[in-house]
Amino acid sequence: MTVLLDFDRTIFDTDTFIDYCFKKLPSLKDHIGEELELAALANSHILNGNLRFEPGELRQFLYPDVMAFLEKRNPQDLAILTWGNEDLQRSKVESTGIVDRFSRVVYTSELKGHAIKKLLPLPQPIVFVDDDGMQLDSVAAEVPEVMRVWMRRVLVRAAPTVDCTPVESMEELDAFLGNLS
Ligand SMILES: [Mg+2]
Repeated sequence: MTVLLDFDRTIFDTDTFIDYCFKKLPSLKDHIGEELELAALANSHILNGNLRFEPGELRQFLYPDVMAFLEKRNPQDLAILTWGNEDLQRSKVESTGIVDRFSRVVYTSELKGHAIKKLLPLPQPIVFVDDDGMQLDSVAAEVPEVMRVWMRRVLVRAAPTVDCTPVESMEELDAFLGNLS
């Protein structure tokens, strides 16, 4: 089995994290437009050293059900597949201190359907979990054999237009995965 987990708003409380960044580096607030712009700006501050996260600092932003899920699962079956500015994403993921719970962490700036296609072959069945309908749609289009799970904790992103299994927590995801084996 391969479970490809999105990071932001799937296992990581991005909205609370953004508020935390505004406190840490108030100048980020002056430039807020779209979230993509904010992320690009935060990425530049990661690169120039103005914004830095210590090991473990961002663990507080994992949703409360994430560690129990990860502790139950074999790391060999789990990967993070995260989209966005790689330096920012890397510093976020690494600061949560959970990298050793995964067989790999994949950073991509492409639609995830395309990114998954490049990772194949992967142990079957393959399950993809994301809150972003655009990413779920791209997986349906590019790698239809991959099972799609729509994480509906926070409905900030567009809904998928394709069939997905909806879940609202890691407990629900765990139950879905349990039914596969
Ligand atoms: Mg997400």
